[in-house]
Amino acid sequence: MTEQASAQQVVRDHLAKIHEQPQVPAAERVELRDKIKRLLKERNAVLVAHYYTDPEIQALAEETGGCVSDSLEMARFGRDHPASTLVVAGVKFMGETAKILSPEKQVFMPTLEATCSLDIGCPIEEFSAFCDQHPDRTVVVYANTSAAVKARADWVVTSSIALDVVDHLDSEGQKILWAPDKHLGDYVRRETGADVLLWDGACIVHEEFKAQGILDLKKVYPDAAVLVHPESPASVVAIADMVGSTTQIINAARDLPNKQMIIATDQGIFYKLQQLVPDKEFIIAPTAGSGATCRSCANCPWMAMNALDNLAYVLEHGGNEVHVDPALGVQAMKPLTRMLDFAAAKPKS
Ligand code: SF4
Repeated sequence: MTEQASAQQVVRDHLAKIHEQPQVPAAERVELRDKIKRLLKERNAVLVAHYYTDPEIQALAEETGGCVSDSLEMARFGRDHPASTLVVAGVKFMGETAKILSPEKQVFMPTLEATCSLDIGCPIEEFSAFCDQHPDRTVVVYANTSAAVKARADWVVTSSIALDVVDHLDSEGQKILWAPDKHLGDYVRRETGADVLLWDGACIVHEEFKAQGILDLKKVYPDAAVLVHPESPASVVAIADMVGSTTQIINAARDLPNKQMIIATDQGIFYKLQQLVPDKEFIIAPTAGSGATCRSCANCPWMAMNALDNLAYVLEHGGNEVHVDPALGVQAMKPLTRMLDFAAAKPKS
């Protein structure tokens, strides 16, 4: 089985589990939330959560002075926060990034099993050989990669800053080697006109959005704007009214005049959308072809592994600490810091 096929199997297994699993009773959830709040305080810890995690975890992060954001802001927030312990609710590369940027802090995750198809699909040995074959190219990697891949890169970027960084490098006449998301890389190449060589990786969630399904949905909601994450295929990006990172999608949902929005990214973002823009209607873009069992399966199976019970367990028992080899961390910190410095110097739009 290829890496990509095995990643797709994880999605199927996860969706099957969601349908099977009994919900934790409401009273137990209240207890877990209270326990997490108490333990965060006692341990001088702060909860840093991604927009794609369970709404209850996002709410807890907000209520306890933590952060709910995209991976760029998660990295920045974790580095700058005075807490001695970071609890990262997201996927493995986010915990590793937090540790690389804050080696003096303890970083925990509700589960260390939560990974990402982009990370899985870009093993360091093959990636390093690919870089060696193209020594004339500047290596730009997406944040969704291992610490080892980051350490091999000249730049790390997130989807919110990829266009700006590649545009800047192109203006200096640099040719780019991009990894691992081919859809985002192709989008960046088309938008900037830069010379970009692509690694063949994809996000199993965003790759499933269907242009025809969105066009069919537009017949039902003709006034809806279509907001698309650039990890989606080019055919989906082509029919979007707006293309951008999670934060950029949230901002566009607030700023565009449309009262209805079709959203092509993970459903976890609906918590923030509904909270910030309560007067608009959000509709998830379809991922299903005909004959599928759900209309949209836009729900990252790894993000969904972050739950109240494993979060409480980690705070109570201290398991699931994230470790990054210190020498690798020093190397990976360079391209990460380059991105954060570039973002800090960028005029605010
Ligand atoms: S949504 Fe896609 S890119 Fe994000 S963590 Fe899941 S598999 Fe990776």
